[in-house]
Amino acid sequence: MSFWKKAAIGALLAAWLMPASAFAKKLNVVASTQDMASLAQEVGGDKINVQAIARGYQDPHFVEAKPSFLLMLKQADLLISVGLDLEIGWLPPLINQSGNPKVQVGANGYLDASQFAEILEKPTGQVSRAQGDVHPLGNPHYWLDPDNGRRVARGIANKLSELDPEDAATFQARFQDFDKRLGAAEKNWEAQMAPYRGRKVVTYHKSFPNFARHFGLDVVDYIEPRPGIPPTPQHTIAVIQKMKAENIKVELIEPYFDLKTPNSIASNTGAKVIVMLPSVGGEKQVTDYFKLFDYDIGLLIKAFQETK
Ligand SMILES: [Zn+2]
Repeated sequence: MSFWKKAAIGALLAAWLMPASAFAKKLNVVASTQDMASLAQEVGGDKINVQAIARGYQDPHFVEAKPSFLLMLKQADLLISVGLDLEIGWLPPLINQSGNPKVQVGANGYLDASQFAEILEKPTGQVSRAQGDVHPLGNPHYWLDPDNGRRVARGIANKLSELDPEDAATFQARFQDFDKRLGAAEKNWEAQMAPYRGRKVVTYHKSFPNFARHFGLDVVDYIEPRPGIPPTPQHTIAVIQKMKAENIKVELIEPYFDLKTPNSIASNTGAKVIVMLPSVGGEKQVTDYFKLFDYDIGLLIKAFQETK
């Protein structure tokens, strides 16, 4: 064996034998979705390792658990969830099985990001899942308003500062920088969307109320009769009638839904079907929170220009 090879193995062995505290330690952050992971990355920079569980092209309400997710959670210092029961079907069992006391619900390393955001469609009166509605606590797709992205990023920066006080100044400075860049991007997005304020659309699922409010879209109806309930023939007919009556020419469909019903509505109404992304990672090039809005706003403008 060459000297260099021996030296390399020696160094590896030494590193392996050294206590973990001898290294500049990074917080292991796991986010339930790529959107939360992107916001955490913005404020955490190279002081954290971030991984996401659900992929942006998957329906975040229904994610199939994999053994690799458990491994991620076992090693996590912080788990960031979207909350509002978005992950109710798949995240609680993973947290349980991970056996990691740091990330159990209520522990210091569990962060429900919905507490920072402005939530729309909050139910009044009795909350019931009896009819299968998957939004029983209000709309969980709140990250699609950049103002909520800012609020969540600030909340994550504060949590990271609490878990790693030595790097608190870095997290706060990175948040300030993110805030500034987001403010500039928002101005640009709003200017692009300004000519189309009040344009009427239908969406498949109730994924875009926060987006619609921020950018001035009017979401008139949904292809799902209720969030999480597949389209029915009666409801589809009602949507077609409404679209004809109100001259609605754009359907926004999340990438994980079957296009059969949207296409049949399109052939009845002459509307355009647009696959609009609710999440970072929904398409390969949409690698962060900024690119998500760049992508969606680009799609919308093109669709609105092509329809009147
Ligand atoms: Zn939903």
